Amino acid sequence: MKHLLVLALAATAVFAHAQTFPGSRPISIVVPFAAGGPTDRVARDLAEAMRKSMGGTANFVVENVNGAGGTIGASKVSKATPDGHTLLLHHIGMAAASGLYRKLPYKPLEDFEYLGMINEVPMTIIGKPQLPANNYRDFENYIRLNSGKLNIAHAGLGSASHLCGLMWQAAINAKEAMTTIPFSGTAPAMNALVGGQVDVMCDQTTNTSGQIEAGRVKAFAVTTAKPLSGNKLLKDYPTLQEMGLKGFDLSIWHGLYAPKGTPPAVLAQLNTALKLALKDPDFLKKQDSLGAVVITDKRVDPAAHKAFVASEINKLKPVIDAAGKYAD
Ligand code: ASP
Repeated sequence: MKHLLVLALAATAVFAHAQTFPGSRPISIVVPFAAGGPTDRVARDLAEAMRKSMGGTANFVVENVNGAGGTIGASKVSKATPDGHTLLLHHIGMAAASGLYRKLPYKPLEDFEYLGMINEVPMTIIGKPQLPANNYRDFENYIRLNSGKLNIAHAGLGSASHLCGLMWQAAINAKEAMTTIPFSGTAPAMNALVGGQVDVMCDQTTNTSGQIEAGRVKAFAVTTAKPLSGNKLLKDYPTLQEMGLKGFDLSIWHGLYAPKGTPPAVLAQLNTALKLALKDPDFLKKQDSLGAVVITDKRVDPAAHKAFVASEINKLKPVIDAAGKYAD
């Protein structure tokens, strides 16, 4: 009898927990890159929009777990307690790392619950302000003339900036022209570029727009297939395709994930909050001003987002193989 009572009390406690998620404990959004960078920025803006969309019942904190091109933070979340209190906000690295690492400490398609896709973000090829070139053609010539003397910064092996740099160097046939310098995110990499300690970087417009506008870095091209005609700041920069790099098309995306085994009711609650957040006028305005396009199609749903990531893994693998570099 006493036994039954204990069981009944335990069941009530579990039910009460499911009913009261998130409760008073904060929801931690793990960003696998340094604070102040583009992934961090999306996470902080999204955290605020989700706090609002959950009616102020949830406190969100953003935790930067940087290193190894995003794989340390992703690995940490894959092993976290699956109770909805630890989430991962990651970008295209969720798909690219499978092609860039021989061995990953997690399985991107098996070790996570997919919550939904957030946005798509173009990338820009930028250089330090002291570079003599003022347009893409002169910039490419400058790279060839200074082959072996230049540095290209990125956010670690497996990051979006690493992927972009790899694809671009392969496309211009300049794989040996630049030494890669890894940082814990493109926030510190950007500081080094602005300060002239590194020469080149390819990074999300969510990080580069402000610096381009302020004249602290030089922009040379955008990585999308089509020009960014709707973007006041970037509309006049050529695409890499227009500069002769046939088929070059890179747009990165962000998604939200929970550890495998997070209860379905909690996942449903988080997905609803995410979808509402993606319609939040303040969030939309901020994203638009940084050149990001918030997702409105079915990829805001877990199954479609997961199918998209699976297709990205298949699409990127041969591109990375052709560019020719394993991270580890
Ligand atoms: N932009 C970075 C990347 O290249 C990540 C970051 O610092 O947010 O992957």
